[in-house]
Order: sequence, then C-alpha cells, then structure tokens
Amino acid sequence: MKIGILALQGAFIEHKIMLDALDVENFEIRQRADFSRDMDGLIIPGGESTVIGKLLAELELLEPIKNAAENGLPIFGACAGMILLAQKIIDGMTCLGVMDTVVRRNAYGRQLGSFRTQAPFGGIGEIPMVFIRAPYITEAGEAVEILATVDGNIVAARQNNLLATAFHPELTGDLRVHQYFLSML
Ligand code: GLN
Repeated sequence: MKIGILALQGAFIEHKIMLDALDVENFEIRQRADFSRDMDGLIIPGGESTVIGKLLAELELLEPIKNAAENGLPIFGACAGMILLAQKIIDGMTCLGVMDTVVRRNAYGRQLGSFRTQAPFGGIGEIPMVFIRAPYITEAGEAVEILATVDGNIVAARQNNLLATAFHPELTGDLRVHQYFLSML
C-alpha cells in the first residue's frame, strides 16, 4: 500500500507523520512526474485552497487528478482539500469538481478562526476535530454519505472513493480517520 500526499502548500507533513505512524508507505507529490508513480490513494491536505488550486493548474496536475478521481482512485481531502474536491464553492471557483457537494469557504467567519471540538464520525465513534478557517458542506447529492455533523453542518462526507473532512484529523493524535481512509483502499 502506497499513498501519495499532495505537497504543494499547507499541512502535508502532518499527514506523512500520521501515515508513518500507521506504517504506510507514502511519498510527496510536488510536480506532474510524481503523480505518475504507482499509488493506492491520494491525500489533498488543508492549506489555502486558492493557492493549491492555482498551483495544481500551473503544474498541470488538475486534469490527471480529476481523471484519477473519476477512475476510482481513493482521495482524501482535508479542509482546503474538501474545497478543492467540491463541485461548487460558495464565493469561490470550482477546482477539481469531482464531489457532488456545495461547500462554503471560511464558513465559521473570520472571528472564529479556529476551534476544537469532538463529534461522532461514521461508524468509528467520537473523534477530536480541529477546525482552522474551515469550510463546511451546505448541500450534498444523493451519492454522498454524511459521516459527521457539527452544529447541524456537514463536516465530513464520503462519495464512493472520495472522502472529505472540514477539519484536520492530522493535527490530533487520533489515527482513526486515516485508518478509515485506508479502509477505502
Ligand atoms: N480557509 C481555507 C481555504 O479557503 C481552508 C483552511 C484550511 O485548509 N485549514 O482554502
């Protein structure tokens, strides 16, 4: 099992630390050639979605990732990654557009920049959640399974091979969301 981690900007090292802790081989994707390597899954980390989106386009990684998503490659998008996967972004431009979701960027406003909470996730119980200028999903299509909500807002969802969280599981010591993703492989 080998996981590629998009390493253009944002919190990619923290995902590597999680995968290392789980003994899962992983490598960074910094350019088009890296994406040609064999991989069983891809992580798109949190960061600044506009910056990551721009770099994906410049590096000609947009189409290959989009095609891979449509061809069933398991992809986990955290925070900015959730935004990049969405079909529609309120106040933003669609990037990969592969997940049948509408996402609101900076959904908790500028005042509440970041917070921590705990909520049930999928079938795995309560997990710690770190939100940093986080989005949430305002609409989800029929194929989208809602995995977690906080205050009535969708903060984690899955559509077949695609997993998205509004929070950063890699910034907690809890490995279960990564394990959940690996179970999708
Ligand atoms: N607010 C950021 C954006 O719009 C996402 C923040 C994050 O990934 N922690 O891209």
